[in-house]
Amino acid sequence: MPRASAAAELFAPDYAAARERFRAAALRAGATLDALPLAARGPRDENLSIDIAWLGARQPRHAVLQVTGVHGVEAFAGSAAQLALLAAPPQLPADGALVLLHVLNPYGMAWLRRANEHNVDLNRNFHLDSGIWTGAPPLYKRLDALLNPASPPARDAFALRLAAAGLRHGVHAVRQAIAHGQHRYPRGLFYGGAELQPGPRLFIDWLQAQLGTAERLFVIDMHTGLGPQGKDTLILEPGVGSASVATLQAALQRPLTGGSAAPAAYTVRGSLGAALPRLLPETRIEFVLQEIGTWPPLRVIGALRDENRWHHYGDGSIDHPAKRCLLEALCPAASAWREAAATLGAGLVQRAAAWQFADARA
Ligand SMILES: [Zn+2]
Repeated sequence: MPRASAAAELFAPDYAAARERFRAAALRAGATLDALPLAARGPRDENLSIDIAWLGARQPRHAVLQVTGVHGVEAFAGSAAQLALLAAPPQLPADGALVLLHVLNPYGMAWLRRANEHNVDLNRNFHLDSGIWTGAPPLYKRLDALLNPASPPARDAFALRLAAAGLRHGVHAVRQAIAHGQHRYPRGLFYGGAELQPGPRLFIDWLQAQLGTAERLFVIDMHTGLGPQGKDTLILEPGVGSASVATLQAALQRPLTGGSAAPAAYTVRGSLGAALPRLLPETRIEFVLQEIGTWPPLRVIGALRDENRWHHYGDGSIDHPAKRCLLEALCPAASAWREAAATLGAGLVQRAAAWQFADARA
């Protein structure tokens, strides 16, 4: 077997190993560690927590925060990127901080799920207003029976039937209806929940307590699954961000999509990024969601659907093929992909830090 590349070796086999490696690397880098414990447990009854490594000033004027694992199983790549960053952290000014949040949804990473312990998609859960925890896009209601059959995974020509739905309603409309987020089907895909979830609640309290007085905060939310394989797509959130698109593109050396840049593949409701300005009203915020592409959308949605059926209508054990297929769909095993994902994830934080801290050093 050929030796995997150094970057590919940063990928942990499971959540517990990833957490241990993150904490050890953070201590080696001189970071302060924090852990926000969750009540949910892992498949071997292990503790689950949101771990945070803090480098630099404790009350920073300028900070960069990278969040990984909002979507659980997508955190394998995020965790690897954070190990790369901790091995070679960017230079920080005296009033600057680099903060790495390891796995906002540890249940999802431990159980190889995208959703959390209550089947909630956390990037559809950051609603700060009451009374918007109901409903689903009209087209999602029509697709519910196709997306969320109440039975264990089985061959049922899903790809063909979804393609037929795309022909009938339009591919973009179908994608938008599925990915938008829904609050009506608690066992369905892209369920936004009926209330703010424990992980987001802990995150919000921590964020406001620790970074509420920062003047400038650049948040990078790292995901996998969308876009060309092994390439990253940088997505802005409508209405979020202080710098112009041109300024950010120059700083990050990448084209941007979404927000006031080009249209994104779809829009969502209740995302982490959209909540930031209201959570930190005194802070000048930049926000970029980074997606590292894996496999074509049909394969990813098919894997999400099979795993969701196994979780709700099988025994949910993690050694099932539906779990392995979802892991491959959101974290391909090929070492070339893993190297690209870790490098892109770390590189974006490096560029954001270089830009964010440039003024402070000048
Ligand atoms: Zn994601």
